[in-house]
Amino acid sequence: MTSNPSILDNFGRPINYLRLAVTDRCNLRCFYCMPEKGMKFSPRKDLLSYEEMLFLLEAASEIGINKVRITGGEPFLKRDMVYFLEEASKIKGLKKIAITTNGVLTHQYIDDLIRLNIKSINLSLDTLDPVRFYDITRKNVFPQVMETLDALLKNEFDLKINAVLMYGKNTDDLPSLLELSKNNLLNLRFIEEMPFNGSGRFDNDNHWTYKKILEEIKVLHPTIQKLTDAPHSTSLNYQVPGYKGSVGIIPAWSRTFCGSCNRLRVTAKGMLKTCLYDNGGISLKQLLSNGASKKEIQKVIIESTQNRHKNGFDAEKDRGSNRPISESMSAIGG
Ligand code: SAM
Ligand code: SF4
Repeated sequence: MTSNPSILDNFGRPINYLRLAVTDRCNLRCFYCMPEKGMKFSPRKDLLSYEEMLFLLEAASEIGINKVRITGGEPFLKRDMVYFLEEASKIKGLKKIAITTNGVLTHQYIDDLIRLNIKSINLSLDTLDPVRFYDITRKNVFPQVMETLDALLKNEFDLKINAVLMYGKNTDDLPSLLELSKNNLLNLRFIEEMPFNGSGRFDNDNHWTYKKILEEIKVLHPTIQKLTDAPHSTSLNYQVPGYKGSVGIIPAWSRTFCGSCNRLRVTAKGMLKTCLYDNGGISLKQLLSNGASKKEIQKVIIESTQNRHKNGFDAEKDRGSNRPISESMSAIGG
């Protein structure tokens, strides 16, 4: 395989970004992601091993994937995560390794991340109120997450804060979260809630769409300015004049960004997904267990990009009425 050719999908979209869920397990129980009790995680033998993940990353990097986001579940809950990050950092074609984390354990690994030059971190934080934090995540670990936030800021990481906004839960946290961008060089991103909560139920009443979120921000800051969004950005970005940081809104449920989607996903169980909303395509885990070569894996990845859905609505429709979204985001990686 030639090194680093870029893949164009069947709609001409370049594909260079892979989101890899390294585990489906988590030390939080965010209610929009999974039930508080009775969450059924996959047996460990069904999850990708580090060896398999590194093999996949190497294969993908040779066909044009140059950015990977490590996600989960909670990546830092996984044993020997630093070893994995170290090995992944050695893969030549990967120009960027980024991580999405809930921040509970991350503060322990700041020095490792700096050493490995992994400076792009998305920290999920839906409120700055400890009581509400517990209400949302069902775990009493707010101080640990704050410790991570402080350490990331102090060490000048390229930091994005992900906050899912949910009517009746944390929409009145919008002003205080937004203020994080006042004195800190970070990108605060408000995300529309999606139905990947592991219950199969989704209350769409009073759903805060990106339009509503922008309206609310404009009430607080009528002079907010639109920024130029990076190519393939999923967020629409703005800045309050005089603020150091910026604020983004991710229309994750309205799905307005599909036209420039450059990403693939591999779930914790090794399913290759070409859209968050699809039903999961091919089992790379199965292929790897059957001894697939790097070339075979590359062929499967390339083929999957030639059958992508045009957008998340088509992908969701294709699941059929008997397969509605019922999975937890922890298995997919967000
Ligand atoms: N555990 C890590 C974390 O929370 O950052 C990484 C995995 S988590 C599944 C990745 C992202 O998905 C987080 O930013 C989380 O807020 C987001 N997410 C989870 N469930 C969601 C939902 N139902 N709607 C919108 N975003 C969701
Ligand atoms: Fe865990 Fe992240 Fe899901 Fe929260 S959003 S339960 S932190 S995987």
